Amino acid sequence: MPREPQPITFTCSWCYKDVTENRMPGPTPAYCQTCAVEVKRSAAANRARRYRERQAEQDTTAWWQKRPRGRPRKL
Ligand SMILES: [Zn+2]
Repeated sequence: MPREPQPITFTCSWCYKDVTENRMPGPTPAYCQTCAVEVKRSAAANRARRYRERQAEQDTTAWWQKRPRGRPRKL
């Protein structure tokens, strides 16, 4: 038997508003439906930014610190 969505009241962790929404029984959502879209977008943006930052961190050697890529040494 399918369970009905229940009106539940919770405080959105994004806009800090008390919202009442019809939700399926389960864990209390953290964000209202309006913010959930924004949170998802922002999370993706954060991930992309963190990824770029990590990539930048990995390569801390400035170009002038790198070994010149010249001819390979003769053995
Ligand atoms: Zn919200």
